Amino acid sequence: MDNVVILGAGFGGLTLASELNDLAKAGKADVTLVDQNTHFSMGFSMQWVLAGRREAGEGQRPYTALSADHVKFVRDEIITIDTKNSTVQTKKHRILYDYLVIALGAELAPELLPGLAEAGLNLCDMQHVLKLKGAVGSIKSGTIAIIISSTPFKCPPMPYEYAFLIDDILRKRGVRENVRIVLTTPEPQPMPVAGKAVGDALKTMLAEKGIEYLPQHKPKAIDAQDHKVTYENGFELSFDILGAVPPHRAPKVVREAGLADASGFVPVDLYTLKTSVENVYALGDVAALKLPNGNSHPKAGVLAEAQASALARSMIAAIEGGKAIAYDGTGVCYIDAGNEEAAPVEVDLLAPEGPKITLSPPSKEGLETKRRFERERLDRWFGTY
Ligand SMILES: Cc1cc2nc3c(=O)[nH]c(=O)nc-3n(C[C@H](O)[C@H](O)[C@H](O)COP(=O)(O)OP(=O)(O)OC[C@H]3O[C@@H](n4cnc5c(N)ncnc54)[C@H](O)[C@@H]3O)c2cc1C
Repeated sequence: MDNVVILGAGFGGLTLASELNDLAKAGKADVTLVDQNTHFSMGFSMQWVLAGRREAGEGQRPYTALSADHVKFVRDEIITIDTKNSTVQTKKHRILYDYLVIALGAELAPELLPGLAEAGLNLCDMQHVLKLKGAVGSIKSGTIAIIISSTPFKCPPMPYEYAFLIDDILRKRGVRENVRIVLTTPEPQPMPVAGKAVGDALKTMLAEKGIEYLPQHKPKAIDAQDHKVTYENGFELSFDILGAVPPHRAPKVVREAGLADASGFVPVDLYTLKTSVENVYALGDVAALKLPNGNSHPKAGVLAEAQASALARSMIAAIEGGKAIAYDGTGVCYIDAGNEEAAPVEVDLLAPEGPKITLSPPSKEGLETKRRFERERLDRWFGTY
């Protein structure tokens, strides 16, 4: 019987495990899912904590409650991937595979930007977001800087959402006019993959809220003493609070396995998610996908999910017989716009004429749909609570 081993139980790994469960149930494959964590929670949960919509522990699900009850879950840290011997070594287990799927997400590396770890709050880390919430909740005047350290990073609208949510909190507190919010990015525009029209719409949203926006600003170093960001173009930005999207790269175990390229991520075929090593696949944030136009494919949970779904159907076809399914690059996400509203974004990355991204105006209904998006996935992966 084929042995399918899935590394990482995030958006991608959970989708794949759920969709392969019937295969495991029918005794047609052994499926193992490995993750170091005890619980799953969605990235945007951090933003909901900042916005005061939930507490830090809410929205989590324990891996012991996985709906994929014929998938073996191993809770352990993966320390070696040995593709020559088709083996994965965790701290306590040696796991052999016939098919390996790497869905280990991105490693956050604040240390790659000098001074960041000392002076900045990591916008992708719940403990840091709790500190940010405290700081935004008490600032009376000054500057809040939201910086994007480098590209690529997960969830292209995420830093913009943080800026909108912080704006909202400051308005409710009645201190907005005394606090500057400045968002800087190395990108030429917001969400470049989405094209000029969507970028312009986001710039308008930022301007309407008085959020200063500085594209093409790549930070070089942070001075933790003087509370100042220095950029490669020579610009300097003083701050009172610094929220940062840190540099991203593939996790150490993946880099040490020699699977990452110069981009820092694992190159895969856009349609099949195959790596250069036979029977080894990578998907989601850990993978470096290139769009047909040569641009980088964005990283997002909903796209990791779509990749995993396509791979699941192809694996089922390979094992049971049938036609493989190509990844189609479609999905929907919801930009949290503050004021308890979200703007739906429909994504069709592989449209024949090039990536087609449609942004709808923010609405209360949009945020309600985002709530439903989370509920549906948690129910699918963990059963109803
Ligand atoms: C604030 C924020 C908001 C976001 N909002 C959205 C949104 O609205 N929509 C959207 O689509 N995406 C959103 N994202 C992005 C989304 O969270 C990621 O793109 C998505 O989680 C990627 O899925 P993945 O399966 O590739 O990796 P992940 O979900 O990151 O999962 C990787 C798993 O691998 C495990 N792992 C890593 N290394 C090891 C190891 N050595 N041993 C064992 N286990 C290991 C980790 O514990 C983790 O569980 C957001 C992200 C953030 C930070």
